[in-house]
Amino acid sequence: MNLILMGLPGAGKGTQAERIIDVYGIPHISTGDMFRAAMKNQTALGLEAKSYIDKGELVPDTVTNGIVKERLSEPDTEKGFLLDGYPRTFDQVQALEQTINELGKKLDAVVNIHVEEKVLIERLAGRFICKNCGATYHKVNHPTKVEGTCDRCGGHEFFQREDDKPETVKNRLSVNIENSKPILAFYQEKNLLHTIDGNREINLVFDDVKKIIEQNN
Ligand SMILES: [Zn+2]
Repeated sequence: MNLILMGLPGAGKGTQAERIIDVYGIPHISTGDMFRAAMKNQTALGLEAKSYIDKGELVPDTVTNGIVKERLSEPDTEKGFLLDGYPRTFDQVQALEQTINELGKKLDAVVNIHVEEKVLIERLAGRFICKNCGATYHKVNHPTKVEGTCDRCGGHEFFQREDDKPETVKNRLSVNIENSKPILAFYQEKNLLHTIDGNREINLVFDDVKKIIEQNN
């Protein structure tokens, strides 16, 4: 089965990806892993990607698409694959369509794990850190035992990293939401899109994932 897994940061995509590859034994293809492998093996595209990453620049779509095509040409994808973190733009969607056609494959399903933006902000923006000892906490998942007092050092002053502040998180999510809209619309149009409520217990979410995979395999 050939799958794409989608979901905003904090939606629990990583956990579901792990479960899928465990249960179905298909390779997990994430762009991060692919870049690392291509760079390690020093393929032409890997070296090109590295030249951008080393400069702190975004890797252009042409390079990313090429790396995905190389990966999807490998024999372990014959029984299926799970694409994670790709496609991320509409250009990538079109490139993937072409790649899949050229390789004589087809997509079976696009699984989108949906969680309300408000909930994602709570999940992603909850981290805070003790100013004195650096211990990290989370408002919901891992609060201090006594409110306002660090468990480790007894300190009372805390701060949030710029990345963990609600405004920063909100902006990051907005960009992601905008980018994913045309992608979701495209797969909806092709009747491949399955949206799951991700704001539930991990096992319940995975039950739905399994249903989709089994109905579309
Ligand atoms: Zn502390």
